[in-house]
Amino acid sequence: MTRKFTGLVVLLLVVPLSLAAQDAKTVLQAASKAMGDVKSIQYSGTGHLYALGQAYSPTSAWPQNNIMSYTRTIDYGSRSSKEELTQVEPTPPRVGGAAPFAGEQKQINLVSGQYAWNQIGNAPQPAVATAEERQLQIWLTPHGFLTAAMENNATAKKGSGGTIVSFTAGKFKINGTIDNQNMVAKTDTWIANPVLGDMPVETIYSGYRNFNGVKFPTMIIQKQGGYPVLDLAVTSVEPNASLNLPVPEAARTTTLPPVKVTSQKLADGIWFLAGGSHNSVLVEYPTYLVMIEAPLDEARSTAVIAEAKKLVPNKPIKYLINTHHHFDHSGGVRTYVAEGSTIITNEINKAYYEQVWKAPRTLEPDRLAQNPKKPTFITIKEKYTLADGGRSLEIYPMEGDTHNSGLMMAYLPKEKILVEADDFSWPAGTRSGPRYHANNVNLYRNIQRLKLDVKTIAPLHGEPVPVSELEKLATS
Ligand SMILES: [Zn+2]
Repeated sequence: MTRKFTGLVVLLLVVPLSLAAQDAKTVLQAASKAMGDVKSIQYSGTGHLYALGQAYSPTSAWPQNNIMSYTRTIDYGSRSSKEELTQVEPTPPRVGGAAPFAGEQKQINLVSGQYAWNQIGNAPQPAVATAEERQLQIWLTPHGFLTAAMENNATAKKGSGGTIVSFTAGKFKINGTIDNQNMVAKTDTWIANPVLGDMPVETIYSGYRNFNGVKFPTMIIQKQGGYPVLDLAVTSVEPNASLNLPVPEAARTTTLPPVKVTSQKLADGIWFLAGGSHNSVLVEYPTYLVMIEAPLDEARSTAVIAEAKKLVPNKPIKYLINTHHHFDHSGGVRTYVAEGSTIITNEINKAYYEQVWKAPRTLEPDRLAQNPKKPTFITIKEKYTLADGGRSLEIYPMEGDTHNSGLMMAYLPKEKILVEADDFSWPAGTRSGPRYHANNVNLYRNIQRLKLDVKTIAPLHGEPVPVSELEKLATS
C-alpha cells in the first residue's frame, strides 16, 4: 500500500512535468537556454551547392557543385541575411544542368525585410522573386526557428526524434524538431514549385558544438524536393556578429516585371515567341496548333498561349512538345494539360511527371490543380514525325548529351529550322562556359549524325541564328 502510494506520488510529480514539456513555450525556452540566446549570428564553412530542378535524369539527384567558401550572417531583429559563397564545378565535369561556369563563381545573396538583392561587384541587383524564400530561410536556421516560433504562437506535440514545434509565418507552415538535448535537430516547411507543387524543404542540423558560448550545428543539410540543395560543414561561428544592411534604392523600388511575350515570324505558320529568358516556338497546322516548349511557370504559359491565340485565333493547341524535364523548361507544362493539349515528351519523363504532378498544390494552386484532369502523353524514344496537311515536324532524342539524358530537339525539314534547348544559345553570352562548348559540339554531331539540313537554329534561350554560328563554335 505504502509502495503503491509512493508510486502514485512519483507519477503525479512526473505527469505534470511531462505535460508542461508539451507546452511550446517551455520547450522553446529550454532550447533557447541550451543553445544560447543570440541577436545575430555568423557561420562559415565549406560544402556543396546543388542545382534544384537541373538533374541529369528525372530519377537522379540535383547536380552538385563544390563550395570553396561560405559565410552567412543573419540579424534576427532586422530580419536580414547576407550569404557569401564561392562555388566551383567539380572535376571531371559533372552531368546535368545549370549554367556551367569557368573557374570560380562568387555570389552574395542578401535580404532585409521584404527586400532582396544580389551584390555583383559594386552594383546591387534586385532579386525581387527570391525575397520571400530568403526571408523564410532565416526562420529555418536553428536560432531563427526559436525566435520565429516564440513570436508566432507555436504549438507543440511529441513526434519522432523529439518534440515537434509548429507555427505559421505568413503563408508558410514551419515545423521544428527539438531533440532530447534541447537542440533544433530539423526544420520542415513547404514552398511552391511549378513542377513539384508544395515542395518539401527539410533542413537537418547535427553535430552541435559549443562556439564562443553558443551551441551551433557543425553539419547542415538542406533538402528541397527530396534531394540536397546545400550541405555545409561548419567550421566557425561568431555569435552576435554585427550585420548592418541598408537596402539599396534599386532593391527598394524594383517590382516584379510583368510577363512579356514577343513574336517573330520565322516562316509561314511558324512563330518564335520570346520576350523573356526562355522561348517557345508555335507551329500552325490546318486545324490545330503545336507549341514547342512550356518554360518557367503558369504565368509564362498563360501569356504565351494568349499570344498564340492572337496570332492564330480559333485553333486549339493540340500538342505541346517538351524538350526536357529541367524545371525551367517544364514548369509551364501543366498549363497545357489544363488547356487540353497532349504532351509530347521523352519516354523517360512520363512516369516522373505523373508522379510529381500528384503532389498537393495549396500554396499556389494552378489551373490544373483547380480543375484536375488526367494528362495525356505521347512518349518519344526515337524519331517521331508530326505530319499533317503538308506540314512536317520531326522530333529527335539527342545522343551523347551531358546536359540532360532525355533531351530532344525539333526539326522542320521544309523550313530547315532546328529548335533546341540548352545545347546552343545565341548570342553565345546567353549561356557560356567550357562544358557548354562540349554540348555545342555534341549538338553539331547530332545534326550531322541525323543528316539534318539545318539553315536556322531557333534556340530556346536567345535569338534565331544561322547554323553557321554553331558550326564556328563547334569546330573551333
Ligand atoms: Zn536544361
